[in-house]
Amino acid sequence: MERLQAVKGMNDLLPPESAKWQFVETRARALLEAYGYREVRTPLVEPTTLFARAIGVATDIVEKEMYTFTDRDGSSLTLRPEGTAGAVRAYLEHQVAGREGHTRWYYSGPMYRHERAQKGRYRQFFQIGAEALNQPEPTVDAEMIAMLAQLFTALGIDDVDVLVNCVGGAEDRPKYMAALRAYLEAPGPDGAPRLSRLSETSQRRLDKNPLRILDSKDPTDIALTAEAPSILDHLGDASKAHFDAVLATLRELGVKFTVDARLVRGLDYYTGTVFEVRGRGPGLGAQNALCGGGRYDALVETLGGAGKTPAVGFAFGVERVVASIPGEPASFAQAPELCLVSHGDAARRFNLALAQELRGRGYRVDVDHRSASMKSQMKRADKLGARFVGVLGEDELQKGILMLRDMGAGEQRPVTRAEVEPALAAARISPTVKQEA
Ligand code: ATP
Ligand code: MG
Repeated sequence: MERLQAVKGMNDLLPPESAKWQFVETRARALLEAYGYREVRTPLVEPTTLFARAIGVATDIVEKEMYTFTDRDGSSLTLRPEGTAGAVRAYLEHQVAGREGHTRWYYSGPMYRHERAQKGRYRQFFQIGAEALNQPEPTVDAEMIAMLAQLFTALGIDDVDVLVNCVGGAEDRPKYMAALRAYLEAPGPDGAPRLSRLSETSQRRLDKNPLRILDSKDPTDIALTAEAPSILDHLGDASKAHFDAVLATLRELGVKFTVDARLVRGLDYYTGTVFEVRGRGPGLGAQNALCGGGRYDALVETLGGAGKTPAVGFAFGVERVVASIPGEPASFAQAPELCLVSHGDAARRFNLALAQELRGRGYRVDVDHRSASMKSQMKRADKLGARFVGVLGEDELQKGILMLRDMGAGEQRPVTRAEVEPALAAARISPTVKQEA
């Protein structure tokens, strides 16, 4: 029989690794909520035209990475490759702008891109992202970047680079494109026009979106564009003032960052400020981009919005962020607070009822269901990392007590059923074994 396997580039997430993911998700949600972002959930499947219009037809994603299929009624659908397009569609479809002056949303979920699968690059991957809609102020860009810096610190990831740039708006781009094109058409050191040696992809992009040539990973392209004119020298007054204000606010907020004039992003919708957070940790390999984002002041209009709706957003890759966090996955898991072990049927039934009651009060309690030896049950409790073990033999059952062993302190004492909960509660207040994540 054919062996059943997950689709290439799509991963199962098993415990204890999932505990590390939950740690990231919990911290991220808490911080996003603290900054006033509220969760939005949009479908995994959208009409293909949404992504073609939002992301741009001359991008890697739309050109070759989308999971597109024909629905039964003949319409073309696509598994979402990113979250912003769907969020903006929902924002327009539900006329959110009419109900609130500005909108702060975040999302979390799987994205799909048919990329070359490798470490840190998958075909199904998870992003947590946020969008601040109808917020033109440069302080919004800076606040978002500061929030990200705070998030990486809260996750225990210290070794990151925060890169920022401004790719200009519709007013600035044509001037810069012309300068970049002139540079590429001019002869290089070997006398031939530089563009004649550009990679095939970059040559193709020259007409549609020359900015993306700066994003090429091809070594020849990188060398050829090393001395290219800088977008930052071609910004109009409005863009320049906005970008300067972003940088000044970042400094005021104490965010460490680097201005990288070559930073552009893989989606066409970005205007103005763009940023990326790169990791330096050993767990990442070549895929060191943890988070990307920027302003997209024209996207809402492009997708049918009535008026100008400037916005800024980001998304980070959960797999890459998890890989950057030091520590064994198991150390992020929540161990039981109490393991109940027993000798004899009656004792086990008593334990089941006690466990049920304590779980109902919010405690994490494990019951050993086996009629195994006390030694083997204790071994299992120890392996689970329980703070307390409650030992109930026939003798204790007769006396109406159980032996409560504090695994951290290595002490045990007899307690009545009613005394178990206070003991667990006290341990929560002063954890001596392991600090809870
Ligand atoms: P890269 O340059 O690594 O391809 P990107 O510019 O395509 O990244 P975005 O579309 O901005 O990335 O997505 C934001 C984040 O999502 C990235 O910084 C990365 O952490 C993560 N990400 C993007 N594509 C993948 C993928 N195929 N597998 C895992 N994570 C991904
Ligand atoms: Mg990419």
